Amino acid sequence: MSRTPPKSFHVKSFGCQMNVYDGARMAELMQAEGMIEAGADEADLVLLNTCHIREKAAEKVYSDIGRLARRESGKPMIAVAGCVAQAEAAEIPKRAKAVDLVVGPQAYHRLPGLIADAVAGRQAVDTDMPAASKFDALPGRRAGAPSAFLTVQEGCDKFCTYCVVPYTRGAEVSRPWSAVMDEARALVDGGAREITLLGQNVNAWEGEDEKGRTRGLDGLIRALDALPGLKRIRYTTSHPNDMTQGLIAAHADVESLMPFLHLPVQAGSDRILKAMNRAHDVASYLRLIERVRAARPDIAISGDYIVGFPGESDADFEQTLAVVRKVGHAQAFSFKYSPRAGTPAATMADQIAPQVMDERLQRLQALLGEQQLAFNRATIGRTCEILIERSGKLPGQKLGKSPWLQSVLIDGGEIGDLVEVEIASAGPQSLIGERPRRAAA
Ligand code: SAM
Ligand code: SF4
Repeated sequence: MSRTPPKSFHVKSFGCQMNVYDGARMAELMQAEGMIEAGADEADLVLLNTCHIREKAAEKVYSDIGRLARRESGKPMIAVAGCVAQAEAAEIPKRAKAVDLVVGPQAYHRLPGLIADAVAGRQAVDTDMPAASKFDALPGRRAGAPSAFLTVQEGCDKFCTYCVVPYTRGAEVSRPWSAVMDEARALVDGGAREITLLGQNVNAWEGEDEKGRTRGLDGLIRALDALPGLKRIRYTTSHPNDMTQGLIAAHADVESLMPFLHLPVQAGSDRILKAMNRAHDVASYLRLIERVRAARPDIAISGDYIVGFPGESDADFEQTLAVVRKVGHAQAFSFKYSPRAGTPAATMADQIAPQVMDERLQRLQALLGEQQLAFNRATIGRTCEILIERSGKLPGQKLGKSPWLQSVLIDGGEIGDLVEVEIASAGPQSLIGERPRRAAA
């Protein structure tokens, strides 16, 4: 049975920043097809750009599908994109009959054809990992926001035993130098003043520059630093084993490279790190942090921690707390281990009881929360530049980001402005900034 082609769309992205980037590119593709963006309550097509990293994230999509199927304004065409689509392609149409279209993270450039199939009543499932890059087939970038994401690397060859990324996103691939530079220029022309380079292992990026020289992420950052109009560069997520001396040195001498590093260690016990197949130990991680701090003393260190990996004893967990105390984080993410089908850890003996995980997560998050507040308070009285990204909740209030990625609220200013502020007070989640008197005058 054929149906009316959708005229409007809505993209809802779950999970990581790479999904946010993919969601933005899907939206640009739909716009290039002549469709207009609309709210989830009225759009003809709703794309759920999903995350499969933990069970909770993956399950969210099914409750959303249920809600959309019963939508008051009528059921839209429902597309499941992203990593759940990749991992559960065959099960989705069986489990959720309301789904019209399934597209994996490496195939979304083929959405227009899939939509046409769904309109014609044909099966519309594409989870191929084609050799040709989807990026070549997507329309050019149309930035707009002052801070933009740019995916430079995808996939992962590291196979940590708990993680689905190598299966859902495929092997590690770096986008070519020229493609990245062209996209960065387009973003800056469109008004971006900050670019965050993205990759599952972004610091594994490698490519040939226009002179044919092999360059790492540090080379790319140095070239981007020379782009007129680009004021700030960030990158995430990094793996400790790909943290080169060149990249560390860039933190010392590239002015536009912001003093922030997201460098996950995951756990504080060498025995657990080995079982996780992390290929680094705690001592090497801490040495790395020391070298980064030597290059850029004020750098804000972020990270990821997993509690309750199979076999994690109380003593192992105490070692995780000890690492957190040694590092002193500006912020960090922490998760309960979530068994993922098909990964080696899911079938390991000695899975940890949920209440033990809950208790460990609470203790870890309390410690990380204290560190975040201490880091924020230490910036009180400091003057720094913030990039204003959006309006705040109060009338006239704006929200910007400090160099250390803290949210700073100020009165006045325009979105896209880089303004100097003095940090007047600090809470756990945000800071209050004031224009220094000479700047306000
Ligand atoms: N490539 C990055 C690295 O290795 O540091 C991380 C990318 S991963 C998408 C983001 C984070 O999700 C990981 O650092 C890890 O802490 C967490 N994660 C991945 N698989 C998980 C699982 N099965 N259970 C709980 N957390 C998980
Ligand atoms: Fe997953 Fe990161 Fe490990 Fe790759 S390095 S398998 S993305 S946690």
